[in-house]
Amino acid sequence: MKNKILIIEDNEQNMYMLTYLLQNENYEIIQAYNGTTGIVAAKESTPDIILLDIQLPGMDGYTVAVKIREIEKLKQTPIIAVTSYAMPGDKEKAIESGASGYIEKPINPDTFVSQMEAFLPRELLLKRGNLL
Ligand code: MN
Repeated sequence: MKNKILIIEDNEQNMYMLTYLLQNENYEIIQAYNGTTGIVAAKESTPDIILLDIQLPGMDGYTVAVKIREIEKLKQTPIIAVTSYAMPGDKEKAIESGASGYIEKPINPDTFVSQMEAFLPRELLLKRGNLL
């Protein structure tokens, strides 16, 4: 069974790139273009992984992370913040909000998937056969 990744990202080009890279690695992708629809999609689809842009229209990614962590079945789901905010303290703020990891934009297409997988729990990688 494919692992499901929910991508919450408002930029069309970034969404396209992330979707392309991850589908290539055999992940199933669910897309949301803002925090509100992202939270609904997270509840409905129970993804294995959530990629979360911080700079979103309306509700920012920090708030989205906090709200996702309030959902019982999503308390342990890896949330990876993907953001071009490069101010000191942003990474810490993302982690405090409930993110499990942080990847800076612009993303590097050659390394993005392994960067993301570095934040995933061992049992999820085992399920994918990545650790065989
Ligand atoms: Mn954005």
